[in-house]
Amino acid sequence: MEKWVYTFGDGKAEGSAGDRDLLGGKGANLAEMCALGLPVPPGFTITSQVCSWYYENGRSYPASLEKDVEAALGHIAAVTGRKLGDNARPLLVSVRSGSRASMPGMMDTVLNLGLNDETVEAIARESGDARFAYDSYRRFIQMYSDVVMGLDHSVFEEILEDTKANLGHDVDTALTADDWKGVIALYKEKIEEELEAPFPQDPQQQLWGAIGAVFSSWMNARAVTYRRLHNMPESWGTAVNVQAMVFGNMGDRSATGVAFTRNPSTGEKKLYGEFLVNAQGEDVVAGIRTPQNITEEARLAAGSDRPSLEKIMPEAFAEFCAVSDRLEKHYRDMQDLEFTIENGKLWMLQTRSGKRTAKAALKIAVEMAEEGLISREEAVLRIEPGSLDQLLHPTIDPRAQREVIGTGLPASPGAATGEIVFSSEDAEQLKSEGRKAILVRIETSPEDIHGMHAAEAILTTRGGMTSHAAVVARGMGKPCVSGAGSLRVDYRNETLLAMGVTLKKGDIITIDGGIGQVLKGAVPMLQPELSGDFGKIMEWADGARRMKVRANAETPNDARTARSFGAEGIGLCRTEHMFFDGERIIAMREMILAENEKGRRTALDKLLPMQRADFVELFEIMNGLPVTIRLLDPPLHEFLPKTDEEIAEVAAVMNVGVEKLRERTDALHEFNPMLGHRGCRLAISYPEIAEMQARAIFEAAVEAAKSTGAPVVPEIMVPLVGLRAELDFVKARIDAVAAEVMREAGLTIDYLVGTMIELPRAAVRANSIAEAAEFFSFGTNDLTQTTFGISRDDASSFLTTYQAKGIIAQDPFVSIDVDGVGELVRLAAEKGRATRPDIKLGICGEHGGDPASIHFCEEVGLDYVSCSPFRVPIARLAAAQASAKPAG
Ligand code: PEP
Ligand code: MG
Repeated sequence: MEKWVYTFGDGKAEGSAGDRDLLGGKGANLAEMCALGLPVPPGFTITSQVCSWYYENGRSYPASLEKDVEAALGHIAAVTGRKLGDNARPLLVSVRSGSRASMPGMMDTVLNLGLNDETVEAIARESGDARFAYDSYRRFIQMYSDVVMGLDHSVFEEILEDTKANLGHDVDTALTADDWKGVIALYKEKIEEELEAPFPQDPQQQLWGAIGAVFSSWMNARAVTYRRLHNMPESWGTAVNVQAMVFGNMGDRSATGVAFTRNPSTGEKKLYGEFLVNAQGEDVVAGIRTPQNITEEARLAAGSDRPSLEKIMPEAFAEFCAVSDRLEKHYRDMQDLEFTIENGKLWMLQTRSGKRTAKAALKIAVEMAEEGLISREEAVLRIEPGSLDQLLHPTIDPRAQREVIGTGLPASPGAATGEIVFSSEDAEQLKSEGRKAILVRIETSPEDIHGMHAAEAILTTRGGMTSHAAVVARGMGKPCVSGAGSLRVDYRNETLLAMGVTLKKGDIITIDGGIGQVLKGAVPMLQPELSGDFGKIMEWADGARRMKVRANAETPNDARTARSFGAEGIGLCRTEHMFFDGERIIAMREMILAENEKGRRTALDKLLPMQRADFVELFEIMNGLPVTIRLLDPPLHEFLPKTDEEIAEVAAVMNVGVEKLRERTDALHEFNPMLGHRGCRLAISYPEIAEMQARAIFEAAVEAAKSTGAPVVPEIMVPLVGLRAELDFVKARIDAVAAEVMREAGLTIDYLVGTMIELPRAAVRANSIAEAAEFFSFGTNDLTQTTFGISRDDASSFLTTYQAKGIIAQDPFVSIDVDGVGELVRLAAEKGRATRPDIKLGICGEHGGDPASIHFCEEVGLDYVSCSPFRVPIARLAAAQASAKPAG
C-alpha cells in the first residue's frame, strides 16, 4: 500500500533530506532536522503524490488518507500531549505547502488552525494571556477565511481599522482581549453575511479545508506563472506540512525570525538575519513591520537603535548560532533558516539552501572550497551559470553626482534607471512599449511577480532584507531597494513623496541596489568589475571543461569584450552587420540594385577596402585565435532602400532614374525572405560577392599576420547550405581567390572552408557535405526555424500560448529542442565524423549561450560553443559543469 503520510518529531522522522521529491523541500528538511535532534515542533507531511492523485481524481483524496492523517495526529498528540479540538489542552497546527523547489509565497498557508470558540478559552487559560489567545483566534479567522473560503482579507482589515478608530487606537497592540472578542464577533457576522455559512468550528473540518486549499493553491495563477518563469513542471505537485504551532507572539520573551548562515547579498561568512519580538512568522516575511537585526555586529553596521536578538535573548541566540553552524556543516551549503522563540525556547521551523546573489554565490563557493567544506569541482557546480548575468550588470559611476531622494535596504545589487510605475500592470505595459520601468510599491506580494519581471528594478517603502520584494528581486537578479521608509507612496494619486518633492508616474529615478539608494533622474553607469572570486571560479571551470568557448562578434568592440570575458576565438562573424553603416549601406544597395555583373563589381570594389579593414582589425584583436567569418547571409530584401529618400540617394549615386530604381526594388521584393534569396544562394547567383569577401579575408589575414606576428588561419563559412553541390560551387570560388591572393602576396595562407548546418537537409546529408566541408557550425536558430517550420520572427505570438498551455515546456529558440532539432545535430555530427574524423564541430546559434543547450553540446561531443560576448562567462561555466556531469 502507498505511504501517503510521513511523520516527524521528538528526534525521529520517517523521511529525510533525500525525500525532497516526495515530501517537498520543507518537509524533507524538517524530517532531516528532527533526525539530527534539533528542536523541531512535531508534525507530518502529506506527500506530493497525494497532490498528483488529487488532480487526477477530480480533487479528491486516496481512500486511506483520512486514516493516515488521523494516525499522524495521534503521533503529534503522543509527543505534545495535545489533541485537535481538545477543550483542556488543544493542539493548534500550521498547514503549509512545500514543493520540491522553493516557490516563495506562491502557495497558501494557514496558521493557528484548531482554534474555535472553546479552544480559544483553553489557550487563554493555559498561556495566562487572553489577549494573545483572542488575537491568535482573529488572525486564524482572517487567514482561514481568505485562504480556504475565498473571502478577501481586506473586508477584515476594514473591520479592524473601524474598531481601532472607534476605540481611539492606532496600533493593533493597544487592543485588549475584550476588544479582540468584539472584533471576532464582527468577523463572524461578516462571514455569515458574505458566505451564508458560519465560520467552521470543527477543527477536523478546518484541517481538511486547509489541506484542500494548499493542494488547490498549486494551480493558482501566481504559482502557475512562477513555475513557468522558473521552468518547473506542473507534475511535481506540492506536499502539505501539518505541524504543531509554536508561538513567537506569546509576549516579550517570544520572537520569530529568519536568518541566513552567511550574508546572502555579499556572501560574507557571517550569520545574517532579522527577527521581530512578539510576532508570528508571516509578519517577518510579509514585511509589514520592519524587523530588527539578529547580531550586534549587524545592528551596529546598520546604525539601528533597536536591540539585537544577541542582546535581548542571549541564550536562545547562542543556541541558534550553534544550530545554524551545525546545519551549514551538515548540508555543506549556506542555509536559509526560519525559527521561532516561544517563551525563551528556540524552535526551528525550516532550513533550506539559501537563495543568494551571484556575487554571494561566488564568494560562498570559493570560500567553502578553501575551507575544505566542498571540493573545487563542487564549487564550480554550485554556481548557476545564468546567474553570472547579474554580475555583468552596470553600476553607478562613482564620479557621478547623486541626488539622493531616499534610502532603504540594499536588497539586491546592481543599478537601473527608469520611469516610475506604481503597478505591475503598468510595468508590463511600459516594457511592451520598449520603455524601462522602476516598480515602486509599498510592499510587493506574489501577485506582483509579473510586474517585477517586467521592471528594471524594484523599490519598496516597507519590508526588510528578507521581504518578498528582496527575496524575489535577488532571485531575478534585479536591483532592489526595500524598506525605504522615508518615502511615501500614494497609489491613488500615483505619486511618490520624497524629501518634500513629489514625483509622479513616468518621472525618471535610479535605483542603486548595492547600497540602498534612490536617486532622482538618470545617472551615468559603469560596466562591472569582476571580483577575484569570479576569476577563481572561472579558472577552476576552465580547468574542468573540454569544449572551447568562442563568441559571436563582428565589431571591434564586441571582439574586445569577448576576449576580456575569456572567449577563445570568434565562432561567428556575421559580415552583413558590417554593411549597414553610413557610406557602406549605399554601396551595398548600389551593388544589390545593379543590373549586371559589371555594376555589381563597381560597387563591390568600393566595399572591398572597408571590408578588408574590418577583418584586419578583427584579426589583430583576436591575435591568432581562430576566427570564423561567414559569407553574406541575409536576404537581399533586407538591404533594399525603403523610403523615397533612400531610393533617391541610391539613384543619384548610380546615376539612374528614381522610377527605374523603384522597379528594380519591387522586382527584388520577396514574400518570404527568410526562406528566400539568402545564404549560399546569394553566392551562387552573384559569385562576385563571395569573391570580394574571400579576397578581403585573405588580404586581411596577410596584413594582420604581419602586424601581430601571429599567423591567422581564417575559417570561411558558407551559410544555409542544403546541397553538397552548393558548397562545392562556393568553395571553388573561395579556393580560386585564395590561390590568387597567395600568388600576389608570395606566401601560403592556411585556411579552412566549412559550412553552417542549419537546414534539415544539410543535417541528413552531412556525410556527403563533410567531404567538402572542413568544419560544421550548427546554426540552430535557422535549424530550429526550418525543423519546426516556425518563423523565427513571428514565433513569440503563439509560442507563449504553447508554453502556457503546456504544449511545449520551453521556447525552442532559447533552449535547444533536444528530441527534434537536437536529434538532427547529433545525426549530422555523427555523419560528419564518419566522413572526416577530425572535422571541427561547433554551434553558433543562440543556444550556444544557453546552459541546458551547452550540456547537450557536450553530450554530442562538439568542439566548441559560440555565443554573444556577454554570455561567454556563462558558457565557460556551463561547459565546465557539462564536462563534470553530462546531461541525462
Ligand atoms: C543560426 O541560424 O543559428 C545562425 C547563427 O545564423 P543567423 O542567426 O545569423 O541566421
Ligand atoms: Mg542562420
